[in-house]
Formats: sequence, structure tokens, C-alpha cells
Amino acid sequence: MENSNRLGVGIRSTQVAAAVVVIALLAALGFSAFRNADARDRESAFLGRVEATAAKLIALQQETIDAIDTADDVHNGLASSTKLATSVHQLQNDLTSLRTNDDIANGVIDKSFDAFTQRLSAFANTQNSATWKSAQSGRWLILRDAQEWSGNYQSIAVARLRTLSEDRATNERNQAILLLLTLLMSVWILAWVGATVARNYQRAKVLIATEEVKVQSARSALAHASDQLSYQAHHDSLTGLLNRTALMENLDDAMKDIEGGLVTIFFCDLDRFKVVNDSLGHSIGDELLIEAANRLVKTIGEDGYVGRFGGDEFVVVCRGLDDSNAALRVAERISRALTKPFDMHGEDAFIGVSIGIANSRPDITAQQLLRDADVAMYRAKGAPGNHIEFFDAAGDMFSYRFNTETALRKALTSNQFLLHWQPIVNLKNSQVHTLEALVRWERPGTGLLLPKDFMAIAEDSGLIVDLGRWVIAAACSAGALTDDRSVAVNISVRQLRDVRFVDDLRDILSESGLPPERLILEVTEHSVIDTAIVTAPLARVRELGVRVALDDFGTGYSSLALLPKLPVDIVKLDRAFMKEIVSSEPTQAVVKSIVQLTSALNVMLIVEGVESDAQRKLLRSLGVQHGQGYWFGQPEPGRLVGSHVEN
Ligand code: C2E
Ligand code: CA
Ligand code: CA
Repeated sequence: MENSNRLGVGIRSTQVAAAVVVIALLAALGFSAFRNADARDRESAFLGRVEATAAKLIALQQETIDAIDTADDVHNGLASSTKLATSVHQLQNDLTSLRTNDDIANGVIDKSFDAFTQRLSAFANTQNSATWKSAQSGRWLILRDAQEWSGNYQSIAVARLRTLSEDRATNERNQAILLLLTLLMSVWILAWVGATVARNYQRAKVLIATEEVKVQSARSALAHASDQLSYQAHHDSLTGLLNRTALMENLDDAMKDIEGGLVTIFFCDLDRFKVVNDSLGHSIGDELLIEAANRLVKTIGEDGYVGRFGGDEFVVVCRGLDDSNAALRVAERISRALTKPFDMHGEDAFIGVSIGIANSRPDITAQQLLRDADVAMYRAKGAPGNHIEFFDAAGDMFSYRFNTETALRKALTSNQFLLHWQPIVNLKNSQVHTLEALVRWERPGTGLLLPKDFMAIAEDSGLIVDLGRWVIAAACSAGALTDDRSVAVNISVRQLRDVRFVDDLRDILSESGLPPERLILEVTEHSVIDTAIVTAPLARVRELGVRVALDDFGTGYSSLALLPKLPVDIVKLDRAFMKEIVSSEPTQAVVKSIVQLTSALNVMLIVEGVESDAQRKLLRSLGVQHGQGYWFGQPEPGRLVGSHVEN
């Protein structure tokens, strides 16, 4: 708005006045040209009439002279005076018409004309008299009168003509002045318009340049945010190692590349880390993890790469270790590096490592290979001695995975699953906005298991479809018991792909009595990468009135680019961002740009992993309105009742 004003032509009152003056000048010029033409017409018309009358006068004079000359006797005198009287009478008519149309026939002409006509009639009256001869001398007086009268007439006509010419000359001069003035004014206006246009053009150029700079910096800020996001999406914020997402991606690629040789995975879990962490504190624990990561990177060098899988779990990936001895040597190197004491501010901390090794086999996925190594690691942990174990396809598969799968099937029918609830709150007033249902498995003989312990197997075996349906039903019935709380339920892509999913969901909603707008389904950003598969079922879910949340946002592949394309109502920013938000300004900038992005897309933003009041305050200052995390409450059974989180 402001810009268009600044760029506009900007007509001011002085300029309006100038234009009015020019228009007035042009009008005056036109009028004077018209008047000039009129004067010229009048002048030439008058000239014509004067010429005609003068010719008649000359003829009359001649006639008078002839009459006088021939009037040598009474008879002739009578004849010529009658003829003369007729001519005089005609001329008198002419002159009368001249006089009435023009003002030249003023008193002077009238007077001399009257004198002439009187003398003429006196002359005519004497025609019969005996004194004709003596009266003849009066003839010359008639002639003199006629000459005098026509002379007067001429001088008046000339004077009149002069006035008319002067009029015209004055008009023409005024016209020339007007023309000059008009030209000058027009030149001035043109110069002024030119200057204004040039000035506005310059101003516009400056404005455009400034806008371009702004656009450029916005673009680079966004690019920076994107890079930052992509870095965070692929790296562990504490150690800088590749994270689980990046590891899985790399592993997928490596396993597709059959030419590259065998892929070997070393799943490393630190042995006494929990003890160190609990006794020396979390910041020492973090330092230890960083040091462990450095040692691992140094040990592996160019032979492979290292990632942090979460907590105290590291994964080393190598290629081309063709016999198990080579793999074992790598594992021993790792073990030696991590068994050396860690100097933690003057105190030696001793930790060890349990390593599970697995080799790629035909027809298994990256996920399965990792699980193989994980299974082997579990066996290594329990084993006495060197804590290094190879995955044994026959034995391990059967012992862990198969057992778990069987147990999971049983768990569904024997009510071993339960829900814990974690609040999602309004950062301003800590009002509980939504409760997220998180599934737990009370496994007989093992205890309470978290999703990470069984979810992957439930997914692989397809059991997730039934388990997921149970979770939705349990969450909806619990939600229906509260007044106005919304409930959020995590679902997997496997569930979305199930043809009955939306119908089941509709049935569950109507059976539980929970209004659809109080249900939120959470899908992880990672799982919706393949947008083609999930977009249609998600759209149908939304048609029911159920809201869709994009979970773990920022850990997927191309979060920013993907967001506008997905049918989602809520975005949950992954807790990875919370790790360093208080100390890292770039992370704050990224979160801020996500706040702007989601608000532009009219999508609600929830930030996960809020663990301190400092984080909460900072998030509020960045414009975040909703959060979730241990600061507000851990997942707990029966958390559904409270409406307000106290801290
Ligand atoms: P999620 O959906 O991102 O759930 C949040 C997880 O982060 C929960 O772990 C919760 O305990 C943890 N968490 C919450 N606040 C904080 C915090 O401030 N700091 C830290 N460090 N962690 C926090 P949980 O319960 O182990 O769940 C793990 C994941 O398992 C969930 O991640 C979700 O993706 C999946 N999951 C849970 N229940 C279900 C389910 O019923 N169906 C499906 N498909 N997936 C589920
Ligand atoms: Ca979730
Ligand atoms: Ca999440």
C-alpha cells in the first residue's frame, strides 16, 4: 500500500493549477483566433462596401458634372436635374443601408449629405425660373458640396478601416503572445512531468532493490533454516554423529548396492552408562557420551561410519568384512577403546560395551539387519566374558523375535496392553489441551515394556493393525468419559493402508460416543514420506471430522517442502530441537521460522520434549503456543482426569 503511494505519480495542487493555466491559455488562444478571423471578415466586408459606395459616388459626381455641363437651357436643365435626382435618391438608399448596418454613417456624413441633397433640390426648384442662368452659378456649389460630402465619407471610411486593421493587428499580437505563453507553459509542464517520472523511476529502482535485498535475505534465512533442519534431521545433536534416521537411510542405500559387498553392523550398547549418569549427573553423562563417540569415530576411521541410535546405543556400519574374524577384530577394537577409563573431571569412570554383530543377508531390510544386531547385542549383554556376540540367524530369530511375536499375539487377547497418558498443554496458562495415548505392554515375566521394545515387531508381523485398532478404541472410550478433553492417538502407516481403517474408525467413534473433533490421529513425519499412499486415507479421516497431526516433525527428509502438501491440522515438532534450544540461536531461528510457517499454513504447532521452564519461556517468546514434555508431565496411567498442570 505504502509502496504504491510512494511509487505513484504524486499529483500536487501546484501541478493541477499549472494544467488549468495551460488549458485556460489554450482556450484564450482559440477564442482570440476566432475573434481575429471575425475582425478580418468584418474588415474585408466593410472594405467591399466602401469600395462599392465610393464607385457609386464617383459615378454620381460625374453625373452631377454632366448634368451641370449639359444644362445650358431650361429643358436640358430640367432633364438632367430629374436624372440626377433619381441617382441621388438611389445613392441615398445605399447610404442609408450603410449607415444603419455600420456606424460610419455618422452625423458628419449625414450633415454634408443633407446639405448636398438640399442644394440639389434647390437647384431643381430653380429649373423653371427666369433666373435659371443666374442659378447656374449654384451648380458648382452643388458639385463642391458633393465633393465635400464624398471626401468626408472617404476619410471616415479610411479612419474606420484603420481602426479595424489596428484591432486585427492587436489581436494577432495578443495571439502570438498567448501562443508563446502556451508553448512556455507546455514546455515547463513537460519538463516537470519528465522530472517527476525520472524521480519516481529512481525511487522505484531503490525500492525494488531494497525489496530484492529483503527477499534475498528471507530466502537465505529459509535456506539456512532448511539446511539446519536437514542437518538436525540427520545428526545427533549431542555427539554430532549420524542419527537413527540418517543411519537407516545410509543402511538402506548400502544394502541396495549389492556390488559393494557384505554390510556388517556392530550394535554397541554402553554397559554401565546408567550408573554413571545417575551418580555423576546428566551433564557428566553427556560428556561421557561425547567422549565415547569420539573414541568410536577414531577407532573406526576410514573403515566405516558411526551413528548414535539413541541413549547409550551406538551403531557402527562397515562394508566388505568378508570373514567373521575381520568383523571380530573390529568389534575388539571398539571394545578396547570403550573399556579404557573415562576421565570425568579427575574421576575415572569405567564403562564397558556390549556389541552385537550382524551381517547383511539376501532378502532382508535395513530394519531387519539392525534388529538382528540388536538381538545379538542383547545376548552379548547377558553373556559372561567379552560381551561380543554374532547374530545367529537360526537361534536368535527363533529365540527373540519369534517369541516376542507369539507373545504379542497373546497379549492382545489377554488384555496385556494398557495406555499411559501424557498431557499437551497451552504454554501460557498450562491448561491441558489434549492427552496423548501411549501404549505399554505389561509382558508377563518381563515387566512393563515401552513401544521401542515391541512396536517394530508388531509392525513387521502386521499385528500393529489389530493392536492399533485396540489403542484407538481404548483411547476413544477413555476420552468420551471426560468433558472436553481431546485425545491423541499414534497410528502407523500399516494401519492407514488397511482398507477397513476408516470404516473401523467411524464405528469406534460412534460406539464410544467421542465427538470426532475431539480425536487426533498422529502419524510420524517419517512414515508419510510416501505421500501418495497416505494422502487419500488421511483425507478421508479428516472428512470424518477427526484431526491429523504430523508427529516427530523435523526428523524426516524434506520437512519444509512436504508440509504444505500434506492434509494435516497439527504439527508436532520433534524433541530433538529442544536439546539445545536454550543455548543455540540458530535452533531458535529454525523454531521461529517453523512457527511462522505453521501459522501461515493455518496449522497448529505443538513442541515436544519440553523438559524445563527455561525451554517453556523461550518457546513462548518465539510464539509457540502448545507444548508437551516431562516439564508438564510424564506419560502416566489415568492421567485423563486433570485439566491443569501444576509446576
Ligand atoms: P511419540 O509419539 O513421539 O511420543 C512421545 C514419546 O516421547 C513418548 O515415548 C514419551 O514418553 C516421550 N517423551 C515425552 N515427553 C518427553 C520429554 O520431555 N523428554 C523425553 N526425553 N521424552 C519425552 P514413548 O511412550 O516411549 O513412545 C515412543 C513412541 O512410540 C511414540 O513417540 C510413538 O511414536 C510410538 N507409540 C506410542 N504409542 C503408540 C501407539 O499406540 N501406536 C503407534 N503406532 N505408535 C505408538
Ligand atoms: Ca506421538
Ligand atoms: Ca513425537
